[in-house]
Amino acid sequence: MKVSEFQNLIKDLYFKRDLNRGIEVTFIWLIEEIGEFARVLRNKVLNRQNASEELADIIAWTSSLANLLEINLESALLKKYPGKCIKCKSNPCICQK
Ligand SMILES: [Mg+2]
Ligand SMILES: [Zn+2]
Repeated sequence: MKVSEFQNLIKDLYFKRDLNRGIEVTFIWLIEEIGEFARVLRNKVLNRQNASEELADIIAWTSSLANLLEINLESALLKKYPGKCIKCKSNPCICQK
């Protein structure tokens, strides 16, 4: 699945609810998911299944925010991460060496 396809899926599933909730409250939900991910990482034994679910939630809420802000995440990612570091122009990055 491409990033744009996932963003569209989230739009199909949740855009009405996201619109009603608004940007600020949606952002708070994203932070809630980051908190859930933090709790997974704080366990003595890493539960990879729980970690993967929380990372998926984080990407989903990020996609909801992008939909509300009318930002194409795939374009944004390609612009900032065009296959090489945008500062040193290398892959892998050799900044701070
Ligand atoms: Mg979660
Ligand atoms: Zn670099």
